[in-house]
Amino acid sequence: MLTCTSLSRIYAGHRAVDGVSLTLEPGKTYALLGPNGSGKTTLMKMIAGLTKPTSGDIRLNGTPIGPETKRHIAYMPTESYFYSYMSIQDAGKYYADFFEDFGRDRYAEMLTRMQLNPKDKVRQLSSGMNAKLRLALTLSRDAELMMFDEPLNGVDILTRTQVIEEISRRRDAGRIMLLSTHLVEEVEGLLDEALFMQNGVIVKSGSLQQLSREGTLTELYLKIYGGMSEAEVKPC
Ligand code: ADP
Repeated sequence: MLTCTSLSRIYAGHRAVDGVSLTLEPGKTYALLGPNGSGKTTLMKMIAGLTKPTSGDIRLNGTPIGPETKRHIAYMPTESYFYSYMSIQDAGKYYADFFEDFGRDRYAEMLTRMQLNPKDKVRQLSSGMNAKLRLALTLSRDAELMMFDEPLNGVDILTRTQVIEEISRRRDAGRIMLLSTHLVEEVEGLLDEALFMQNGVIVKSGSLQQLSREGTLTELYLKIYGGMSEAEVKPC
């Protein structure tokens, strides 16, 4: 179980995440929803141990986030993080060295399904292929908590379907699955719970069953963010 208590991150006086408290349970898929700049990435990076909270507490099964929890948490960021001279195969070896839960066979299978050539260099990859590589690497791990920042962005419909299948398989195997997205319609069928973020705060959350009494996720999204000005919705 993951718990965040009164979690905040302030950047030069700006509250990117502002007093977030939440509990995520095994065997469930959660989505962080909200327009650019609402604090989704900052929240995930703090949980992954990559960004230090300004205040608050994060624990995985009671253990504060730190070196001990890192091996139980998989995180797919939005940006590419490989040396351009590396091949897709090298990136897998790099991950296998770092993470005990990395499945080499799973990775090989994922590359085949995503039509990625292990011999291709990272510098040759289009942005969509790079996104597929980051997905394949993260999905080849078997961590207790698996987080994906915008996993469906920039990838083709076949890959989207595969990713949605993989996420639901991991959820069924008892993992905590957390993803951020603004492609609300595409993930609606996959989710157990949704968390709507605005200006660093979770303004609404609940199970899909609870939320469905108020409308579809898209309707709720429009209701929550539809009144925001362009300046508020655009990334800073
Ligand atoms: P989202 O993932 O929802 O798009 P982010 O967490 O990336 O939101 O950003 C939340 C806010 O924090 C934005 O206003 C953004 O400009 C700011 N922010 C994020 N990272 C940094 C940083 N490294 N330095 C300064 N401000 C940042």
